[in-house]
Amino acid sequence: MASTADVTEEVLTNSGAQPDHDVIVIGAGVTGIYALHRFRELGLDVTVLEAGGGPGGTWYWNRYPGCRFDSESWSYGYSFSQELLDEWEWSEHFAAQPETLRYLEHVVEKFDLLRDMQFDCKVERCVWNEADLTWTVELEGGRRLTCRFLMTALGLLSAATLPSFEGMDDFDGLSFHTYYAPHEPVDYAGKRVAVIGTGATGVQVIGEIADRVAELKVFQRRPNWCAPLHNAEITPGEMADIRARYDEVFARCAETPGGFIHGPNRSKLAEIPETERLAFWEDLYAAPGFAVWLGNYRDVLMDEDANAEFSAFIADKIRGRVDDPAVAEKLIPTDHGFGVQRVPMETGYYEAYNRDNVELVDVSETPIERITPTGIATTDREFEFDIIVYATGFDAITGSFDRIDFVGSDGLTLREKWEETPVTYLGVQMAGFPNLFMLAGPTAGSNSTNFPRAIETGVDWAADLARHIIDNDVSRVECTVEAEDEWTEHVRELYAYLLLRKAKSWFTGYNSNVEDRQRTRYLIYNGGAPRYTKRLNEVAEAGYAGFTLS
Ligand code: NAP
Repeated sequence: MASTADVTEEVLTNSGAQPDHDVIVIGAGVTGIYALHRFRELGLDVTVLEAGGGPGGTWYWNRYPGCRFDSESWSYGYSFSQELLDEWEWSEHFAAQPETLRYLEHVVEKFDLLRDMQFDCKVERCVWNEADLTWTVELEGGRRLTCRFLMTALGLLSAATLPSFEGMDDFDGLSFHTYYAPHEPVDYAGKRVAVIGTGATGVQVIGEIADRVAELKVFQRRPNWCAPLHNAEITPGEMADIRARYDEVFARCAETPGGFIHGPNRSKLAEIPETERLAFWEDLYAAPGFAVWLGNYRDVLMDEDANAEFSAFIADKIRGRVDDPAVAEKLIPTDHGFGVQRVPMETGYYEAYNRDNVELVDVSETPIERITPTGIATTDREFEFDIIVYATGFDAITGSFDRIDFVGSDGLTLREKWEETPVTYLGVQMAGFPNLFMLAGPTAGSNSTNFPRAIETGVDWAADLARHIIDNDVSRVECTVEAEDEWTEHVRELYAYLLLRKAKSWFTGYNSNVEDRQRTRYLIYNGGAPRYTKRLNEVAEAGYAGFTLS
């Protein structure tokens, strides 16, 4: 952690020097790619620093089997370029990771972005220099760069977390966290495989490899409510139709709370006759993507009774798909209702448990005691494996910020400032951290909505602010403490309306593998995309109300 003396030394070191860049963006994922394009269009000198070996962020790292979109491919791509929309062909309604990575690489190439990206650059420390109004960015290995404006595009789920089981390093086979799945192909055929974790990632892995491996043991601590993805190929005719309707698709995304094509049914469950309600739910269960989660009656995610009724409907679906009644019951969550945690979308997930080579190990009953050189030992049994897949999640949203020492104007680190919960203005800025802008930070609209839709809004807004800064010869931008307090309170209040506030999930900052992450933190913005966008626009129209520009 930086001391005041360190900070003073930095200021002295950099005082008076011309910054290396106007803007440094940290991260070359979906956000960093678009940010580079937009800020460069303004004539700014921008460089992107990326820890990975290429662009793509989430889609560069997550190469686990089964990794694919849970949102419609054609609602996920960038909307900013008609030419890009006209030329790109999605092959599936929910594209797999290799295709999405190819798409992002195509965007990088098309807009000639690679020349301003630097890879294998792990940022360790960023220090504000008040004397010359610049940020110094320090990379692993000691290299330093300076800039006028620092922009973070760190991703929401990029700080992968592993459990701390004894013996993890001694396993003789192949083991990896899904985020760091090997880049070279892994042959699962005939292997004995363990998957630890049954979140959206584990569920995708299990559905994908169950029929390929010799043995699959799923180590489940708490089940999730999963629903069918209903993926399908996109025919050339369908792609032509989607292209013709892109304006409609993006307009639809802009009006729904989640920024997806699926928006809530405005009726209340209790107002709908039972037969009609059941028919509607059958349709939702048969519909592709998040319809079943985000297209439901609006009170299902807000009211305990409504939620319990729909959860019972889904529980019956699980019972109907899993042959062994005892296994089915283990796969039905009892500690939270449907949709209050992120709903994993699955393909053949429940049917996997009907296979002879697949077994569910309930580690809430028989916890994992240690990893052995040949497998996993629970309190009950020893298992032998060739491959262990840790699908154990992330220190979500703030984890990637915590891994960098951001040192602000008064020597305080961001980690210290956010100790209790993230404190931000609009999820964009923090008092005490001038000229630092988060393009997808905690409490911003992007962290609970269709990501590309939201980051286009956020980056466009930041680009407009940059234009304003250039036009008005501004060199220092910092939000006020009052604006930050008001926003932080607003974010906290919005949690009260949704049942998700009660669940142990990354929406509430929960992670059992990270010290001090077993309490509620207010990480996400629950007001919905339209409301967030409206607020951003109001702030801009009021001359960037809540910011001090000097
Ligand atoms: P996650 O939802 O946090 O799930 C982690 C799983 O690991 C949970 O089942 C958890 O159990 C288990 N776990 C963690 N530590 C454990 C331990 N020490 N012992 C036993 N089990 C342990 O993480 P994720 O599945 O990686 O998903 C994170 C998010 O990534 C998703 O919610 C989604 O937003 C995103 N994602 C998106 C897509 C997509 O769009 N296609 C795909 C995958 C993921 P507990 O529940 O008991 O803690």
